[in-house]
Amino acid sequence: MYGEIITIGNELISGRTLDLNAGYAAGRLTAAGLRVTRITSVGDDHEMVAQTLAKALESSRFVIVTGGLGPTDDDMTNEIIAAALNRSLRLDHTMLEKIRTYLEMQGRKMTASIKKMAWLPQGSRILNPDGAVCGCCIIEQGVRLYFLPGVPEEMRYLLDKFVLPEILKSFEDIPFSGQRILKIYGISEADISEILKKLRGKMEGVVLGFYPRFPENHITLSLSGKDRAAVTGRLDQAEKEIRSLLGSFVFAAGDLNMEEVVGRKLIERGETISVAESCSGGLIGHRLTNVPGSSLYFHGGVIVYSNQSKIELLRVNPTTLETFGAVSDQTVREMVRGLRKRFHTNLGIAVTGIAGPDGGTREKPVGTVYIGLAAESGIVSAGYRFIGDRKQIKMETAMMAMDWIRRYLDGNSFLPGI
Ligand code: AMP
Ligand code: MG
Repeated sequence: MYGEIITIGNELISGRTLDLNAGYAAGRLTAAGLRVTRITSVGDDHEMVAQTLAKALESSRFVIVTGGLGPTDDDMTNEIIAAALNRSLRLDHTMLEKIRTYLEMQGRKMTASIKKMAWLPQGSRILNPDGAVCGCCIIEQGVRLYFLPGVPEEMRYLLDKFVLPEILKSFEDIPFSGQRILKIYGISEADISEILKKLRGKMEGVVLGFYPRFPENHITLSLSGKDRAAVTGRLDQAEKEIRSLLGSFVFAAGDLNMEEVVGRKLIERGETISVAESCSGGLIGHRLTNVPGSSLYFHGGVIVYSNQSKIELLRVNPTTLETFGAVSDQTVREMVRGLRKRFHTNLGIAVTGIAGPDGGTREKPVGTVYIGLAAESGIVSAGYRFIGDRKQIKMETAMMAMDWIRRYLDGNSFLPGI
């Protein structure tokens, strides 16, 4: 059940392209209970690819190779494998036909470089023979070698639909592997770790992983075992313990993100929302509308960057701006009051702050952000002092604003500010 991943391409080892394939494949294989013991990236280089492949054949039961299957001169995977495995290249007629059909559909002509893609090492089996995207499989000394395209979408499709099911079928007794992800916001990694010390002795083999993903913290819970029900039960118990210790800091589990959580809660409660954004520059509106179906609850927003726009669009009193400044509790309260009236929504959320790098003062340093939330029952507001560069302060502002909506809808208190 041990296997490895090799990604090929000069763009990967020069830092031009982030390797998306290795991470995806490793995640999928691991989640299926297989063990990935090595990930290697190599350039489009005969010698290096051959060496890496030879090493993989010595120590792995399966190998996923991505990249280098295209028509350009730097796509040499097929030649390299053939040479490395001492196999000849054969013109694969199924592959050639596929390419021909595809070209015809696009009104393009066959060229020598395109035809090159149909020359496969002897003994290759095509994956997805009926589809447009394909890769191939070779079994060498009992090791399953899979060669997939470098384009991440194509690679993912083939991995999920063909490669993973084949590997799972070919190995018996793969233990069931369970994983949970809990997403946390508003508490540092160090504090989480301190709180979770109380779990000692209660985890029954469940392994915890800590992954800061600014501005969130993610915790994974992993366990494998022969009995699926037992693994699930122990993970359920561990998740319950962690949730009880971290309370409302846990905002989501699994693939859900903050905007999806907020969207679901708004729908459940039948509430509508509008946003007024100064320092976040539209990021809150962008994130809220990333969720399909958000038109059910999101009515609209304004980016009120200048004082003038705050006055004209939200009826903020010029005297308030003059007396307390654009970044102040008083201003954010007037912004959110004006917003809710203008958009006729149940809820309104407004933010104003200093994203930096300039514009900070001793009293209001860079990172000072005020948030206001208006509902039928009234207005609540608070200030925060975020740390980071301009982009991070915008991200933190948007996240905190959405966290306010979530906490408001759950009846929880907001995170304490300045
Ligand atoms: P290739 O199959 O090597 O011709 O790759 C086709 C395209 O997919 C390249 O231009 C890259 O932009 C992209 N690509 C290849 N390998 C990877 C990878 N491991 N991660 C992300 N993108 C990749
Ligand atoms: Mg390439």
